[in-house]
Amino acid sequence: MKHSTPPSETDCANLEQSDLLSVDTALQRIRDALTPIQGFERCSLRDAFNRVIAEDVTSPLNVPAYVNSAMDGYAISGSDLPAEGTIQLQVIGTAYAGAPFDGKIQSGQAVRIMTGAMVPEGADTVIMQEQAEREGDNLTIHSGHKPGENVRQIGEDIAKDGVVLAAGKKIRGAELGLLASLGIAEVTIKRRLRVATFSTGDELCSIGETLGPGQIYDSNRYSLYGMLRALNVEHIDMGVIHDDPEAIRNAFTTASEIADVLITSGGVSVGDADYVKQTLDQLGQVNFWKIKMKPGKPLAFGQLDRAVFFGLPGNPVSVMATFYQIVQPSLRHLMGQDTTRPIRLKARSAERLKMRPGRQDFQRGILDRDEKGELIVRSTGNQGSHILSSMSQANCFIVLPADSGPVEAGEMVEVEPFEGLF
Ligand code: AMP
Ligand code: MG
Repeated sequence: MKHSTPPSETDCANLEQSDLLSVDTALQRIRDALTPIQGFERCSLRDAFNRVIAEDVTSPLNVPAYVNSAMDGYAISGSDLPAEGTIQLQVIGTAYAGAPFDGKIQSGQAVRIMTGAMVPEGADTVIMQEQAEREGDNLTIHSGHKPGENVRQIGEDIAKDGVVLAAGKKIRGAELGLLASLGIAEVTIKRRLRVATFSTGDELCSIGETLGPGQIYDSNRYSLYGMLRALNVEHIDMGVIHDDPEAIRNAFTTASEIADVLITSGGVSVGDADYVKQTLDQLGQVNFWKIKMKPGKPLAFGQLDRAVFFGLPGNPVSVMATFYQIVQPSLRHLMGQDTTRPIRLKARSAERLKMRPGRQDFQRGILDRDEKGELIVRSTGNQGSHILSSMSQANCFIVLPADSGPVEAGEMVEVEPFEGLF
């Protein structure tokens, strides 16, 4: 459609909105552009903690490997169970975990059995000790039991030769235990992703330096350190690079040689984008995007000579929000990790939340339960992208859709708990 009259203010606003890339579209574009790293290494079980499995692990055995008891009680033959009334059985021995009963149960007999002990030959059912009456070697069992009860079958947890852990799975405590239960001492894991970071800005001082007028301490360097550490990557901290074309170019070149990924903060907003852009145009293919999210509109993404590049905005909250929403899932994809989206829950807003439609909003919230046990969320207060204390006070993002207006107290909102995200 052609405009015969100059575009109105609303048209301009719409034009600007359509320029913006939604978080999901940005994530999809990044994912399409990235190939997971190929390198892998072998390591011992404990060293595999928090690493990503590089190839499917199949089970060398059945777990449980033998039929065993789920309870302390009496092993009997299910065919002895009375349909009504009671039955008397004779206790002929004991089976301990690790010390099986050496013999066979005949009809009319029972063996005292402990949890985890092998169910003796001839038995297929375990009666809980609380449900049996014993006097000397005489055992009385009432009706109401099912044949096969309280018995763990072979391969019930894991079947031999089956895939127990698929490639891409992150190894946590449960996985370590699972591998140990199979007697597996070594695993093949993805090599660590090498991630370099630096902060840009002439106003930035490092800890230990004295602040001059107009200067601030570089906090992004440390929040990035923490967020990367939680991902268990190899982090190369290149410190502060001042707004000097030569220094920036050198830093980009070095990072591209030593890292798989470079993450910078600052210098991609309108004020200085052209300047970083010039440097990057000579070194690789980088897109300067405007993301439809708040905080954190500007984001650079592309390929340097060898490293993948993420240029995050400078404001401390924007750094953390863009990292969690965009960079972190992208790094997990690069690490070959299966990437599920973080869990979002519905919670009642305890108060009015300011919101202007336009960009998906990631407000900082404090999630709790009210007296009825229902989830309730309140704001941390000032939502400025420079209020880093809001990230520390918060335990969740309140995720408001781009087209949402203000939220009234009592309305339901979506929240994304930090637990699990960090
Ligand atoms: P920029 O994106 O470079 O225009 O920076 C936006 C805002 O973030 C400015 O107020 C900067 O001073 C601040 N900022 C940039 N980098 C950092 C950093 N590493 N630590 C703390 N604040 C920063
Ligand atoms: Mg700057």
